[in-house]
Amino acid sequence: ALTAGIVGLPNVGKSTLFNAITKAGAEAANYPFCTIDPNVGIVEVPDHRLQKLTELVQPKKTVPTAFEFTDIAGIVKGASKGEGLGNKFLSHIRQVDAICHVVRCFASEDITHVSGKVDPIDDIETINLELILADLESIEKRIGRVEKLAKQKDKEAMFEYEILAQLKEAFEADKPARSIEFTEEQMKIVKGLHLLTSKSVLYVANVSEDEIADADSNEYVQKVKEYAEKDNAEVIVVCAKIEEEIAELDEEEKAMFLEELGIEESGLDQLIRAAYKLLGLATYFTAGVQEVRAWTFKLGMKAPQCAGIIHTDFEKGFIRAETVSYDDLLAAGSMVAAREAGKVRLEGKEYLVKDGDVMHFRFNV
Ligand code: GDP
Repeated sequence: ALTAGIVGLPNVGKSTLFNAITKAGAEAANYPFCTIDPNVGIVEVPDHRLQKLTELVQPKKTVPTAFEFTDIAGIVKGASKGEGLGNKFLSHIRQVDAICHVVRCFASEDITHVSGKVDPIDDIETINLELILADLESIEKRIGRVEKLAKQKDKEAMFEYEILAQLKEAFEADKPARSIEFTEEQMKIVKGLHLLTSKSVLYVANVSEDEIADADSNEYVQKVKEYAEKDNAEVIVVCAKIEEEIAELDEEEKAMFLEELGIEESGLDQLIRAAYKLLGLATYFTAGVQEVRAWTFKLGMKAPQCAGIIHTDFEKGFIRAETVSYDDLLAAGSMVAAREAGKVRLEGKEYLVKDGDVMHFRFNV
């Protein structure tokens, strides 16, 4: 399963945020595809469409979908303190599919900051630079091998060499691999390099309790936003401490608490949604009278693969998928009405499933 790693310098609020995630978290038993590991937090994906579908279909039960966050600090804790962030840290970042980079934007007298002052941009750059250097080192090794072949006019080597040279130039200018626009063909090679800085990133600005309602006036948050814009990344503002408290409340209490704070949606819910998108994940639904359920798929998957997420037999024996978009179904008011309005399509093996599709698979057993 794809996972988003939580990364950041010490004392920025990673453990607090990860606690919030595990407290709010879903029962692993309901999600057999998820990893059971103390450093992995399973979260349900908040999706208002699921409630609407439930009202429409009135099923016996409703099941949200889920995915995983990995607490990299938790894994690395106890790793020997070497130069920089350490190889263990880097090797664990290598294993996650996207990065949620937590940055401290709260000033607090009693909580020491590793570098003695709160400076979110400096913090971000400390980590990013470390990742860039690791990538530089790994491509330099590769360049050594490819260069010889490229000089002998080996076509493939020449193609790769050009990519490596571009990467090297970026790294030497302290720029991540994701800052370069590659063609689809080139991307295939880049993927094979397993670079740390080609992973997608979002920044999590951790602000204090008193600032969460008006986070935009926090100058640290502003700076992070400016930085993120250059990095084509999103910024989610949270107060990890409050999220930890909210995570213990039930839905009703949570809604009241958020209203008191003057926020519409909890930072954690925003983070969950943003990380899901960052991983390239999307949701389709099944909506029967027994069960209305959200399913996670990777954008780019075709109908049979998506059917296979429910059961491998669905993929093997796939015939067609009756499909209606969530919007069309809701506008029609019922499955029957949607069918009468001609909104229910019969999609075949080549159909690229879209976020919000409501699907019913037909298959041979
Ligand atoms: P980590 O080292 O990045 O995992 O940081 P921790 O989650 O352990 O947090 C470091 C310290 O900052 C702890 O004492 C937390 O209670 C505190 N902290 C974390 N988030 C917040 C926050 O949003 N507001 C305040 N005031 N303190 C926080």
